[in-house]
Amino acid sequence: MKVLVINCGSSSLKYQVIDSDTEHVLAKGLCERIGIDGKMTYQPAGKDKIKYDSPMPAHRQAVELVLKQLTDPETGVLSSVDEIDAVGHRMVHGGEKFACSTLLTDEVLKTVESFNDLAPLHNPPTLVGVEACKELMPSVPMVGVFDTAFHQTMPPEAYIYGLPYEYYEKYGVRRYGFHGTSHRYVSRRAADILGKKPEDLKIVVCHLGNGSSISAVDGGKCVETSMGLTPLEGLIMGTRSGDIDPTCIEFIAHKENLSLEEVMNIVNKKSGVLGISGISSDFRDLDEAAKNGNARATLALKSFCHSVVKYIGSFVAVMNGVDAIVFTAGIGENDDIIRSAIIDHFGYLNTKLDPAANQMHGEERIISTPDSAVSVICIPTNEELAICRDTAEIVTKKLVEDAVKEVLSK
Ligand code: AMP
Repeated sequence: MKVLVINCGSSSLKYQVIDSDTEHVLAKGLCERIGIDGKMTYQPAGKDKIKYDSPMPAHRQAVELVLKQLTDPETGVLSSVDEIDAVGHRMVHGGEKFACSTLLTDEVLKTVESFNDLAPLHNPPTLVGVEACKELMPSVPMVGVFDTAFHQTMPPEAYIYGLPYEYYEKYGVRRYGFHGTSHRYVSRRAADILGKKPEDLKIVVCHLGNGSSISAVDGGKCVETSMGLTPLEGLIMGTRSGDIDPTCIEFIAHKENLSLEEVMNIVNKKSGVLGISGISSDFRDLDEAAKNGNARATLALKSFCHSVVKYIGSFVAVMNGVDAIVFTAGIGENDDIIRSAIIDHFGYLNTKLDPAANQMHGEERIISTPDSAVSVICIPTNEELAICRDTAEIVTKKLVEDAVKEVLSK
């Protein structure tokens, strides 16, 4: 089955076409600056990346361009759009309704829309992307894979906030968690690498990228995660503050004469390691600046590692043990200095890194010493593949059900 995987942001659209039988990526690319001046990249498997500018007033035109590119007689990988058997969409917020991926029926889309309040920056663009695909491929089944779904197994004591219970009941104010597709993919892959069943393992997954989150996966199920009602809570991130005393918001608004929205913009976009260092949200820049003696870059990196260490330690306590600590995403996969600074704190778990194994970027590898009691593993995340697998599974099941119905109706 050929699956088009779509991941829409407010002004971007990432896409891949994956053959679900071989799990080969046939082509991938990115539309950026949608609604501004429109920039597109397209890369068929094994060939050079093609880049060009093209106006994309809205997501519909971006999807149109993607389909045109995929079926281009010279560089395309499909003979026609009809070759696309299904579309898998990365969805952000599924509230408490979606604990797994689902076929995007009109009813499901209405329910997802009702969560727009909970994720005003992230949910609306994903729905716009689904609508654009539905318009251009009306007979192709669409599946939604939710960032929040994997965390729905958290017990109430982990997801409830210490706020009046009525806000949970009335508005769904609770911890949801994000990056769930990555946490699920990576924790299962870790079990494969260790040759064990997910049910027999306690794993801490550290998804460390521009947005960062940690989860505790006990017996294959998420029991705790660091992000909350929104992706703002938890670790210090690229530009997000992570955990702060909520009073800081009122205090800064008062001192700087700013509105609530203005301070929220600061804690989302101008804080984290960018805010602390005053230099960059990118760890490559910060590693370089720290190497050159910049004290605030060093402080930003140390604070980030400190927040990761705190979460790992507390999640080990929540699970009453740990078998593996896994690093993934841009920083987790690539930054050996950060990995080493974090794992240095876990001598008490009888675990240490093998410095030679840790000297690598973006590879799947066990990086702890063979005699470590807890395995430390680096696993490149692959959310697109996870979305493709779910989509193929759900669509195949539907096709079988439809065929059975048809037979029975005769
Ligand atoms: P992601 O959000 O998963 O794409 O991660 C993006 C972030 O990963 C960037 O902002 C960098 O901070 C970090 N990153 C990517 N490559 C490297 C690298 N080679 N060394 C250190 N950090 C990296």
